[in-house]
Amino acid sequence: MNRQRLDIAVVGAGMVGLAQAALLAVRYPQFQVAVLEAAETLPEVAPDQYDPRVVALTQASYELLEEVGAWALIGDRACPYTEMRVWDAEGTGSVCFNSRDVQLPNLGHIVENNVVVDVLRRRVEQLPNAELITGFRLESWWRDCGQWHLQPRSDRINDVEGSERNPDVLRARLLIGADGVRSRVRDLLHIRCTETNYHQTAMVCVARCSEPHHHTARQRFLREGPLAFLPLAGLGDENHCAVVWSADDELARELVMLDDAAFALNLEKAFESRLGTVEEVGERFAFPLRARHAESYFGPGAVLIGDAAHSIHPLAGQGANLGLQDVRVLSEEIGRALKRDLEPSDNSVLARYQRRRRGDNAATLKAMSTFKSLFGAGELHWRWLRNTGLSMVDASPLLKKRIILRAMAV
Ligand SMILES: Cc1cc2nc3c(=O)[nH]c(=O)nc-3n(C[C@H](O)[C@H](O)[C@H](O)COP(=O)(O)OP(=O)(O)OC[C@H]3O[C@@H](n4cnc5c(N)ncnc54)[C@H](O)[C@@H]3O)c2cc1C
Repeated sequence: MNRQRLDIAVVGAGMVGLAQAALLAVRYPQFQVAVLEAAETLPEVAPDQYDPRVVALTQASYELLEEVGAWALIGDRACPYTEMRVWDAEGTGSVCFNSRDVQLPNLGHIVENNVVVDVLRRRVEQLPNAELITGFRLESWWRDCGQWHLQPRSDRINDVEGSERNPDVLRARLLIGADGVRSRVRDLLHIRCTETNYHQTAMVCVARCSEPHHHTARQRFLREGPLAFLPLAGLGDENHCAVVWSADDELARELVMLDDAAFALNLEKAFESRLGTVEEVGERFAFPLRARHAESYFGPGAVLIGDAAHSIHPLAGQGANLGLQDVRVLSEEIGRALKRDLEPSDNSVLARYQRRRRGDNAATLKAMSTFKSLFGAGELHWRWLRNTGLSMVDASPLLKKRIILRAMAV
């Protein structure tokens, strides 16, 4: 591939950037697409160990991964879940969604982050018109005659010893920023972000429980934040779950510092022993929770997708799904531009993408904030409202069906 004549450069080889490159390369074979990644290597998948960071992929995300030929590579590391149980720690309200409610085989799949990244990387590497370039941290750029000139961090350029790996300056017509929450592309475009600090931290780890998960995703709403046990598959039993436990920063700091046995005990108590004893917990990771939304999704010849454009509270597990929807819509808009003899980097193309995605993402961000406030409120009337709400949803098959179908389409 001629790196001086790329059609599209995607910055960031997270799951969203890789999916974007793969989808564009599959749908439009005439394009030369490169993914530029700051890291030297991408995370590996351990055959005997789970990655504690997981995503709950919806039907829409599954279809996208199918289209690019990545789904088949996931194999048994995707855990389909057929049921989702949600309940309130301060009351009797609960709701149970079942795939039977919508006559589908499952509600979605829990897949480890590094598995999704790994299969997408393999697909990008297989496609003749796509290339992954690692060790390229985009630092600066300039644009002339509709071409981006992309420059990595200068210590790499002056790195004489590694000069055979020197990526030099790349040139591309359209730039897609998929470089995550601290997006350099967003900064270089001078796009501002609105930010909400939840003053909460999400702790993630893998837990082995004495009782099997039976392919059910479970979430308990505690005053200090949601606690989810998400079923995992692939290592031969039904006893491992990915835990996502959000709590106020100070409490999370205390919990993370506990030794494994004490943490497991706290976890089991917070989860009301719904899966029996928490027998073992793996390494714990903490993520500060902030919602961010870029004020614009594009600038001249460049566009933002995934966490670079928006990041949300993980309580509904929708961050990656929203990013994959950006991927689908941007690809559609590029296809539409081609039919109209427009440059994919044309402002009107990028503006249409923004129009189709920004409102949707803003609505989800708002819904997550409202949810978070509602479930964090301790006053009696709020407790009554959310418990009644949960029970009402549970008693209404039609409402449940609508909620499930809406959630699966993201
Ligand atoms: C605790 C937690 C739980 C979550 N659970 C879920 C869930 O259940 N379901 C769900 O859908 N979502 C979930 N999410 C959100 C989801 O993980 C993210 O939305 C998703 O991973 C974002 O992917 P991305 O590719 O946009 O960004 P990232 O994964 O952040 O990838 C960005 C990439 O860009 C690279 N990069 C950065 N800067 C540069 C540069 N200058 N040059 C080159 N490369 C660069 C980085 O190295 C990285 O590889 C969760 C998030 C958290 C914190």
